[in-house]
Parts: sequence; structure tokens; C-alpha cells
Amino acid sequence: MHRHKVVVFGAGGVGKSALITRFVKGNFLSNYDPTIEEVYECTSQIDGTTFSLEILDTAGADQFCAPQERYIKSAHGFILVFSLTQETSLREIEDLRQRIYHLRGDNRPIPLVVVGTKLDLTTEREVPQELIRRYAVRWGVPFYETSAKRNWNVRPSFEDLVRQMRTRFPYP
Ligand code: GDP
Ligand code: MG
Repeated sequence: MHRHKVVVFGAGGVGKSALITRFVKGNFLSNYDPTIEEVYECTSQIDGTTFSLEILDTAGADQFCAPQERYIKSAHGFILVFSLTQETSLREIEDLRQRIYHLRGDNRPIPLVVVGTKLDLTTEREVPQELIRRYAVRWGVPFYETSAKRNWNVRPSFEDLVRQMRTRFPYP
């Protein structure tokens, strides 16, 4: 079966593994091995048809080692993850985004969504909605505020990416 390949990037500890696990397996575990880099596969339905994904959960400080570069070049879509409780993690996205565009070496839009995590930690929130709105306008990409723990807005963020990938890379 044809699969769309998705790469999930973001600073350590922002909740990449929790987000993917919530989407793929439907549960939330409070502890994930931060060093695990794993590919998840999932098949589901959207708009009445089946889609299939291969999702790379990245890990580690050096996010652009050779195998990852190869993966980036062949990926169909990206999820850039930051934590709403850590403003520096949003700045790191900016850098990641530029490196992805640079590696891809073309000017066509790349299917991409930006996901802010840990929306449930309201008292620890550091990133105001206004700042998110500014980034969304400047980059022209959708932003989602989510909680893997509470299962808020996780599926809509993946579905948005699936729709973008279908438009850009239709199944043969
Ligand atoms: P990763 O390094 O980006 O893969 O981050 P993890 O998925 O391992 O998550 C790091 C920590 O944040 C873990 O302790 C998670 O339980 C916690 N976490 C992740 N997502 C959420 C969330 O939506 N809400 C809350 N409260 N904690 C979260
Ligand atoms: Mg992880």
C-alpha cells in the first residue's frame, strides 16, 4: 500500500513522542525514552477514504545526521513541534524550518503543520496566542494548539497534514 512519509521534529522534551503515540495508539504515557527514534505506521480514514502514514519520531540533539537528511529529502510532510510552555522551543522551530527548506532545495510549498503542545498546562504557558498568530501569518502555515494528555486537537493537526500531502502528492 502507498504510504505518505511524515517526519516529526522539535526540541527535546516538547512532546513529540506523546503526540505521535496519542494519534497512532490513542493513549498517553507520561514517560517516553527521550533517545528513542522510531518509525510508526498507521492507517486510518479521512473524508471517507483510507490514508496510510509512516511517521518518523526523531530524537537527540543532532537532528540532521546523514540518515535523517535522507529521510527529509524523501518525506512528504513535516510536523514541527514546540511546547506552549517553553518559548525557546518555538524559536528552534524557525531554525528547523529553514534547514528543511534548504535541504529540499525547491521553492514549492512543503506540506507542513506546526503543533504547540501541553495546552493543558495553562499555568505554565509561556507562548501567547498573539505570538503564534504572528508566526502563522509570516510562515503561511497552520498552527495547532494541542494536548496529547487530554487528547485536544491532536487528530485535527494530523488530518490537516494528510489533506496537504494528498493535494501535493496524490496516491498513484
Ligand atoms: P519528546 O522528547 O519531544 O519526544 O517529548 P515526550 O513526548 O517524551 O514528552 C516529554 C514530557 O512531556 C513527558 O514527561 C510527557 O509526559 C510530557 N508531555 C507531553 N505531552 C504533554 C501534554 O500534552 N501535556 C502534558 N501535561 N504533558 C505532556
Ligand atoms: Mg521522544
